[in-house]
Amino acid sequence: MEKREMLYEGKAKKVFATDNPELCIISFKDDATAFNGLKKGFLSGKGIINNKISACLMQVLEKNGIKTHFVQELGGRETLVKKVDIIPLEVLVRNVAAGSLSKRLGLPEGTRMKSPVLELCYKKDELGDPMINATHILAMGFATREQINFIVDCAYKINDILKEFLLTKKVKLIDLKLEFGKTSDGEIILADEISPDTCRLWDAFTNEKLDKDRFGRDLGNLEEAYNEIYKRLLVKK
Ligand code: 5GP
Repeated sequence: MEKREMLYEGKAKKVFATDNPELCIISFKDDATAFNGLKKGFLSGKGIINNKISACLMQVLEKNGIKTHFVQELGGRETLVKKVDIIPLEVLVRNVAAGSLSKRLGLPEGTRMKSPVLELCYKKDELGDPMINATHILAMGFATREQINFIVDCAYKINDILKEFLLTKKVKLIDLKLEFGKTSDGEIILADEISPDTCRLWDAFTNEKLDKDRFGRDLGNLEEAYNEIYKRLLVKK
């Protein structure tokens, strides 16, 4: 597989073309950002850790029947993925109130939701990723009614699978952000990444935060938190 030109650079990843038009290489960066890029930092080694964590979680999902862009982890900070057109939506699933949900609804952080909450946001940093609903998505032509239903069903399934898997690693899945893409033959699959940059992960017993909130809220020990998730998921005892 030959790596070719860079197609896109985001806050946390670069995407490269390959000699196969159906495949891309994603490269996880060491940059840490919060508040839609307003706060910036750098964590040496984060890209490598997030690459491994995301590859692990994508494979857990594949084993459980979810179609994802994952093809092969290439080592270091790179993974080979199927090329997709990203649908400009952030699909959030929440099991426990935290972050913007706590703020918006006045729910103390840590309040367990009786059932998962699903939110759709327009992926647009300049606008602060505003929350939208299915009618906005239809009106802007991002997806059809059937595609929206598929994405929502899939997001709930992904949440269930990952919540259960992470609990076996003594990690609570508080919430997560998913992105979906369309392949060249029109299939919708899970894309982007699943990592402590895109999920809230708390220790199952102490509720210690093991994710990007440590950076956003200046709690320190960011590196230790990401390493801890890496160890629990990937280091065989
Ligand atoms: P909140 O809306 O509470 O800030 O975020 C809910 C969940 O979605 C958190 O796990 C957060 O990390 C993730 N999330 C929401 N928006 C973004 C985003 O723009 N980028 C990333 N990486 N994660 C996001």
